[in-house]
Amino acid sequence: MAQNRNISDGDIRNMILKQGGVDRCVLCGKCASVCPSFREFKKEVFSPRGRTALAKAFLEEKLIPGERYLETLSCCLFCRACEKACPTHVRPGWINQLLKNLPEFEKLHENILPVLQMDQNNPYPESLFRRLGWKISPISFEERFRESAQELKTGGKLAEVVYFPGCIHNHVFPEAARSTMSLLEKLGYRIMIPEGLRCCGAPYIYAGDLKTARNLIEKNLRVFEKCQDKTILCDCAGCASTIRFWSDLFPEGSEEKNLAENMAGNAYIFSDFLKKFSPSIFSHIPDLNALKWAEEIPCNGWALWLCSECPDMLDSILKRIDKYVAEKKLENLITEDAACYAFLKKNLSSVKIISLSELLENNL
Ligand code: SF4
Ligand code: SF4
Repeated sequence: MAQNRNISDGDIRNMILKQGGVDRCVLCGKCASVCPSFREFKKEVFSPRGRTALAKAFLEEKLIPGERYLETLSCCLFCRACEKACPTHVRPGWINQLLKNLPEFEKLHENILPVLQMDQNNPYPESLFRRLGWKISPISFEERFRESAQELKTGGKLAEVVYFPGCIHNHVFPEAARSTMSLLEKLGYRIMIPEGLRCCGAPYIYAGDLKTARNLIEKNLRVFEKCQDKTILCDCAGCASTIRFWSDLFPEGSEEKNLAENMAGNAYIFSDFLKKFSPSIFSHIPDLNALKWAEEIPCNGWALWLCSECPDMLDSILKRIDKYVAEKKLENLITEDAACYAFLKKNLSSVKIISLSELLENNL
């Protein structure tokens, strides 16, 4: 397959079997109750269990994928809620992403892949951002950081933190990255952004282009190799969770896999970082009345938005969020994910969308 010259179709099939664990499914159905697409369609083929059974039948050559199969795969939000719920460690979300790399499923990404591939040698998917109508900042956060390094590196009472801004914060919402930095400064950390960082690979993984994702990740690993044992902070949940799965893209025993596994242990999403290193921070906001997000809306579906898939399902999810916001009379909706932030800001006008770092910076 052209776009996966360094990962063969056979490699992908093995990954589905071994990493995805299609043979481990005991059909218990625990995954269905947390799956947003099953909630939407109420049909077994739209559940993680149903999709895993389809994947197994496909790998055993008992099934030729048709339109219905493509439709059920295209409505997987890649939220991976099913993977947390599964008692036998099946990974339906990852199986669905891997399948997209096989020729039988190419139709699923025929619109998005050419856009992404325009930027194969860029550090970030600029063409995708433009297609989404995002205004790209004339100066990235990273450039601004280097220009004002003296101003920003005045902390230092606590440990040095390596910051991975992620490409949405870096190029579209630099003010969100700026809030994170400012907060870390207030807490006394020294901040470092190593030179040469690239996109974490998430959009390429969603769109079925593991080859480009792997190339980007390899470059990031070379950069992070020099920061071994340092805490890596990522204030975009999507980047942080992708970083935790980087090792899945490399063969057993490879240098890259070992490096990625070591890195995953040092990488924190912002809220986990604060819980571990500054646990009292939330008690400093006197009027904060935070509600845990509704379990019945586990994902807003931004990954589908990125790939322009299932507009009806996205519309339905947004209506549910709107209803929940109205019922609970919410003033702010806080997110830790840069793509959620962008998606909700563009598509939800009933509530103010803010990032976790903005909330903390404005109140401390
Ligand atoms: S990744 Fe999310 S949407 Fe996809 S099957 Fe799992 S729970 Fe359902
Ligand atoms: S929770 Fe796991 S074992 Fe149970 S049906 Fe879902 S994928 Fe299969």
